Amino acid sequence: MSEVKKIAVIAGDGIGPEVVAEAEKVLRKTEEVFGYKFETEHGLFGGIAIDQKGTPLPQETLDICKQADAVLLGAVGGPKWDSNPKETRPETGLLGIRKALGLFSNIRPASIFDCLKDASTLKPEVLDGTDLIVVRELTGGIYFGEKFRRDGANGQEAVDTCVYNVMEVERIVRQAFEIARGRRKKLTSVDKANVLETSRLWRETVIRIAPDYPDVELEHVLVDNCAMQLLRRPSSFDVIVTENMFGDILSDEAAMLTGSIGMLSSASLGEGSFGLYEPVHGSAPDIAGQGIANPIATILSVALMFRLTFGYNDAAEAIERAVKEVLDAGHRTGDIAVDKSKAIGTTAMGDLIIAAIRK
Ligand code: NAD
Repeated sequence: MSEVKKIAVIAGDGIGPEVVAEAEKVLRKTEEVFGYKFETEHGLFGGIAIDQKGTPLPQETLDICKQADAVLLGAVGGPKWDSNPKETRPETGLLGIRKALGLFSNIRPASIFDCLKDASTLKPEVLDGTDLIVVRELTGGIYFGEKFRRDGANGQEAVDTCVYNVMEVERIVRQAFEIARGRRKKLTSVDKANVLETSRLWRETVIRIAPDYPDVELEHVLVDNCAMQLLRRPSSFDVIVTENMFGDILSDEAAMLTGSIGMLSSASLGEGSFGLYEPVHGSAPDIAGQGIANPIATILSVALMFRLTFGYNDAAEAIERAVKEVLDAGHRTGDIAVDKSKAIGTTAMGDLIIAAIRK
């Protein structure tokens, strides 16, 4: 019998609980079909935790996550908490959980489902074959550097500092090389080495460790050029690795190639195999409670968890195949439906995918 894997399940706010419920059904179905065993424990996080515990990230939730092999997260936030002070805002909980769990990279796959090509703003022939992953550094760079204001000769000045050390660059670049190794073996390192000192350190580090991965083809691309090439030739990318702010922007750009935020999964990884998995979308307060949210991003996050944390590639493929089959059969939630009158709800989409999961 296979080893029991512990998964911390944190549904969060808005549509979070609705889409996470479908992902949990997928866990149960893969137990049945593949014989894997999962133990789930639920924790409060985000706005709901603020309401019930006075803090977005209660210690008991953090403990549940730390004792787990992986975390499945819905989404947090909503207008109810938008005007809260910083310490009691759901987003503060997100930064806190990443830091407390030592998650230093964010993995965002962007691949095209043939039957959804029309949902993208790009021409189908440009999108053909697009299947890429953006690996973004998550805990360093300008978002975390010292910030301050000071008086200058021309009025107040604001300063944001961007800092990276060799260890931070090396660990994420090695992770990206490893991910590329398991795919089409091509790595694009994105920087701004013609201008920024942190980028020069980044590039030097990439060049130094590249000989350890002779089987992976490496290219260096400046961030402005990468932003253009993503729109011009997205299918030529396999794995893109970059620092925090560049990755923030490029991963959103790559996400939009696919046409819908309701389809996009993500992972945040630290050392070892531990990871936090969540849909890219937020809590969608505008549609929360209506049973119409697209659960596919969260379901595909489970597939990503199987692949990256557990190495259950057979189950990951079965989930991805099931999603494709259901979409190919023409089933759509409202966000991806051309004819909105034929759209199905969250539970119906989840049930169809579950029914299509097989060995
Ligand atoms: P959002 O992703 O929640 O919604 C953007 C738009 O996409 C909305 O129109 C929404 O209805 C639609 N959408 C999103 N997910 C969908 C799905 N699964 N199915 C169908 N439609 C979907 O982004 P937002 O409106 O900017 O943010 C709403 C809240 O979510 C805010 O409080 C924000 O801070 C929070 N947020 C949380 C996370 C997170 O938990 N990681 C990420 C982004 C935003």
